[in-house]
Amino acid sequence: MPQILKLMDDKTQFLRDLQTRGCPVCDHLVRALDDYLAGFIAGFVDKNEVQEQYAAEGGFCPLHTWQLDQWASRRGLAKAYPKLLDRMASVLSEHARSEKPLTEVAELIKGPLTCHICELLRDEEGAYINKVTPLLAAEEVKESYAHSQGFCMIHLAAVLNHPVAAETGRFLIAQAALRFGEMARQMEIYTSKHDSLPRQTLSRDEKDVVLRAMIHLYGARRLHLQGSA
Ligand SMILES: [Zn+2]
Ligand SMILES: [Zn+2]
Repeated sequence: MPQILKLMDDKTQFLRDLQTRGCPVCDHLVRALDDYLAGFIAGFVDKNEVQEQYAAEGGFCPLHTWQLDQWASRRGLAKAYPKLLDRMASVLSEHARSEKPLTEVAELIKGPLTCHICELLRDEEGAYINKVTPLLAAEEVKESYAHSQGFCMIHLAAVLNHPVAAETGRFLIAQAALRFGEMARQMEIYTSKHDSLPRQTLSRDEKDVVLRAMIHLYGARRLHLQGSA
């Protein structure tokens, strides 16, 4: 595809992504996470090679393992997990018999740098931010951004970490300041309408203000929350 057409496509897509009540980068990552988990689980519960690879890699980090648990049935996991458990048992037995430093056991726990899903999300996040940051230089995009909820703090910081014109960077920071100030006022209205008798109808902005504020301060819930079981 010629570069100019691709840029137009990226812009159209980003303008659409900006219509979210959440953060466009978080939304993209949630979609990537859900797609990956859905595809992974399909093979995990009944394909030997997927279970073997999972066991060989040592599984996922605690956060993504609990998210896997939210998606898959316990019956499915019972079919899928024995290979990882056997591998863990054999590696630990070897440790117990060896002279290896005791602290090496910690390496068996996956973390952000060694978990496959963490890596996938990091790559997706980098690619998305690389794609949209240059688009923000255009007036038309700034205009749409000003009418959107904007990036969450995590992704605002990630965008500002990229080579971005000082004027664009300050525009993004000023927009975040404006949104947080608005949310504080909307919360006050939310509280007073909630406490009033008879209850007054909440506007759309007041209705979802608590969730919106949390997402924009800390990123989408789905990316940071483990299963509740
Ligand atoms: Zn975000
Ligand atoms: Zn992970």
